[in-house]
Amino acid sequence: MQRIIVIFGPPGAGKGTQAKFLSDKFNIPQISTGDILREAVKKGTSLGAQAQSYMSRGALVPDEVMVGIVEERIKDKDCSNGFILDGFPRTIAQTEKLEKLLQKRGTPLTQVINLKISDKEIIKRLTSRRVCRSCNAIYNLLVNPPKVKGKCDVCGGELYQRDDDKEEVVKKRLKIYADETTPVLNFYSKRKLLKELDGSRSINEVQGAVLAIFQLLLTQ
Ligand code: ADP
Ligand code: ADP
Ligand code: ZN
Repeated sequence: MQRIIVIFGPPGAGKGTQAKFLSDKFNIPQISTGDILREAVKKGTSLGAQAQSYMSRGALVPDEVMVGIVEERIKDKDCSNGFILDGFPRTIAQTEKLEKLLQKRGTPLTQVINLKISDKEIIKRLTSRRVCRSCNAIYNLLVNPPKVKGKCDVCGGELYQRDDDKEEVVKKRLKIYADETTPVLNFYSKRKLLKELDGSRSINEVQGAVLAIFQLLLTQ
């Protein structure tokens, strides 16, 4: 059976950190829509040009664009044993479209894991987040710093602060999350697909909880 998992939560909840952990451990691809968009911006593709203005002001990229990206990505061969979605869906329209895409594929969604965390903790985490320009590895100056200042432990790439991780933009992203993204939780709760976790615990503790959920799924 293919496992199709959504890692859900507000900006800074730890979606990327936990999705990467599961992806490495179980060898199933992590589909991070934020990483895909940032890659397109870096390469200067037409998608990148279109997405940049939304991303830099903390707004959501239009649903049609996002659905198109995911629709194409899940056709890749590496997704044939399942995948982990990180940062998608983020609106009810995306959620409904994902359901249709998965129906067509004959592989229903397995589980949605929601990482819960307060706004105060989010701001602390995001203003201290650093990301590798080359391999997208995620660091945190407070709880998970790189071994060498400014350099990625994995690939030696340069670490940078995302423009949208500045405090004013973070606040806008939180408002958009509350208005447009939280209704998705209700949708999945009604479908009995939702598992909620306390995302404010340490990275290791959250990993333990995520792992327990995933291992349970493997037995089903
Ligand atoms: P975070 O990890 O902080 O939640 P992401 O890296 O997932 O942020 O997303 C960064 C930005 O990329 C978002 O603020 C938004 O502009 C855009 N984006 C990513 N995923 C989506 C999506 N599913 N729908 C609309 N916009 C998206
Ligand atoms: P998201 O993808 O949801 O935006 P990230 O995984 O990028 O979240 O994490 C946001 C920031 O918080 C990063 O700097 C990351 O290192 C850090 N972080 C992730 N999980 C935790 C945790 N459980 N406790 C403290 N900091 C964390
Ligand atoms: Zn790197």
